[in-house]
Amino acid sequence: MCMVNKEIVSLINNNQEFILTSHVNPDGDSIGSEIALQKYLSSLGKSAKVLNYSPTPANYTFLDSDNVIEQFNEVHHKNLIENTDVIFVLDTNEYSRLRTLEPFIKSSKAKKILIDHHLGYDPVSGLFDSYIVDTDSPATGEMLYKFFKNIAEDSSQDIKDIVTRDMAVALYAAIMTDTGSFKFNRTDSETHDIISELLSYGLNPYDIYSEIYNRATLGKLHLLGRFLNKITMIYEGKAAYSVVSQSDFEETQTDEYAIEGFSSHLMSLETVELGIVITETKRGVKLSFRSKGNVRSNELAGEFQGGGHMNASGAFVPGAKLESIVKEVISKAEKYLK
Ligand code: 5GP
Ligand code: MN
Repeated sequence: MCMVNKEIVSLINNNQEFILTSHVNPDGDSIGSEIALQKYLSSLGKSAKVLNYSPTPANYTFLDSDNVIEQFNEVHHKNLIENTDVIFVLDTNEYSRLRTLEPFIKSSKAKKILIDHHLGYDPVSGLFDSYIVDTDSPATGEMLYKFFKNIAEDSSQDIKDIVTRDMAVALYAAIMTDTGSFKFNRTDSETHDIISELLSYGLNPYDIYSEIYNRATLGKLHLLGRFLNKITMIYEGKAAYSVVSQSDFEETQTDEYAIEGFSSHLMSLETVELGIVITETKRGVKLSFRSKGNVRSNELAGEFQGGGHMNASGAFVPGAKLESIVKEVISKAEKYLK
């Protein structure tokens, strides 16, 4: 059955200037989704710009071989955002996660379209003119592939005339990273069917994995060593947390991007149902939550004005002090452990 979102298709067909954006600290799903959609819009002869608050992490720049992603600059991009026809927000439904782009996008007269798989979007809010939200989907990239497939079916086109090889690489990377290399809960047979179709473009899974994950510096491993040494078990081992401080980054010559994947070590502990990574950044403290089963980590994140998915969520507390946040997180975590 074909369920193409006609509203979004007509917004694409009837407009010329597009801006795409995603959340602060973009991940593989953000960048992969942006690149795939940018290439699709370009193939239709549209002008499509990608503007992000954060620079693209080095391990995802291979997806942007044409250098289309620009880092947002108020002076350069203010008028562009104001005058564009359509703005796509991908992989987050929270304007605050667009950081400094928020006021410009909100006040732009452009039509705003959301494509996202996070919990918490309230359609009644009217914050977006059109949206595709699927909280059961493991990745925005998977939702986009289905969107392209629906367009192909609806217009009797071959999917390969819509999704090119470069787009397939971007979507594969989006899905691979957001599913934790196909192991997280929402990975299902449909995900593997889509991955199978993407692999039919002749993609090399090892090469893509390697571009993204086999790029550690010695400093990153030393940072991981510190992180592992500081793991603390609480609540009879049902929860574990560890802290990364500014001095850890400085002394290992790493930055905040280096902590990607650290939470999985907490979750590898047999008794742990809730893992918490507490990171001191220059602007405040970042909390990263992971959980198993029915432990609602997103609600805990919500207590710190964050959010996400039930088993993977986060929050950012501007200006917070590390020691006081650690105490607060520990005490608030208890009630989620049944
Ligand atoms: P991570 O721990 O990998 O940074 O984030 C895991 C998930 O938590 C993300 O996919 C996102 O859904 C959510 N998340 C992380 N940081 C924030 C935040 O500051 N605010 C909100 N609302 N969600 C976040
Ligand atoms: Mn995602």
